[in-house]
Amino acid sequence: MPYRGRLAPTPTGDMHLGHARTYMAAYRRARDAGGTLALRIEDLDPLRCRREYAERAMEDLAWLGIAWDGEVVWQSARREAHVAAWRRLRDAGVVYPSTVSRRELRDAAHAPHEDEEAAEPLFPVALRPPPGTGRDAESPAGVTWRFRVPDDAPIAFDDALQGARRYVTGVDIGDFVVWRRDDVPAYELAVVVDDIAMGITEVVRGADLLRSTARQLLLYAALGATPPAWCHVPLVRDAAGRRLAKRDDALAIRTLRARGLSPADVLALADAST
Ligand code: GLU
Repeated sequence: MPYRGRLAPTPTGDMHLGHARTYMAAYRRARDAGGTLALRIEDLDPLRCRREYAERAMEDLAWLGIAWDGEVVWQSARREAHVAAWRRLRDAGVVYPSTVSRRELRDAAHAPHEDEEAAEPLFPVALRPPPGTGRDAESPAGVTWRFRVPDDAPIAFDDALQGARRYVTGVDIGDFVVWRRDDVPAYELAVVVDDIAMGITEVVRGADLLRSTARQLLLYAALGATPPAWCHVPLVRDAAGRRLAKRDDALAIRTLRARGLSPADVLALADAST
């Protein structure tokens, strides 16, 4: 299969040095493999995403010399495919609706993992509804849907930059959200459905998503699809050692550009940061 990669920015703020590093890595890997690179704007969250940020991201990419192939894919336009995948998971009995409140979750929460990849504490298995709950739901709307992870199953994958990775379900990852209560498909589901549909052969993204890859491998299996290869690019940190966030305007590509840096300067700075 010919190499097909993708750039998948979320338009909730301006791109910073970390994005420059990740997207340049994606661009180079696609080019070196003689393949193609798609651009998918991950604009699912109607409250946080803005068209203006998507346009600014495309401008920043073009300025950096990161070109993509073909039409831009807007994730928000792919709802039907996301609902179809939800239906398939519902029929397979691997997802359930959960009415557990944030407060109950907080009260039941274990101490969060120390390492930064764990975004949130594991969902406690005691709060799962009985098996079969939600089997007859007509639509995912109105309630949070979670994927029921197996007990203690190893999930292993090889990463082009991070080497062999191994996670254990119920230990490193718990039941994760596939559909949000506000009727928005969750990141984990949408990204897998779209990567499958777009024929992506390698996912290049930030190392903050390593643990998500373990979750996503469960979705590939449940949806009967072959997973892509993986390449997680190290995060760029600020002077204090914190990973960059979209609010760090000082290291936004536009700020650096306004200060007179060239695309080559910005990319060199991204490569030099650890
Ligand atoms: N949209 C995600 C982000 O900007 C990236 C998702 C992915 O590459 O899988 O963090």
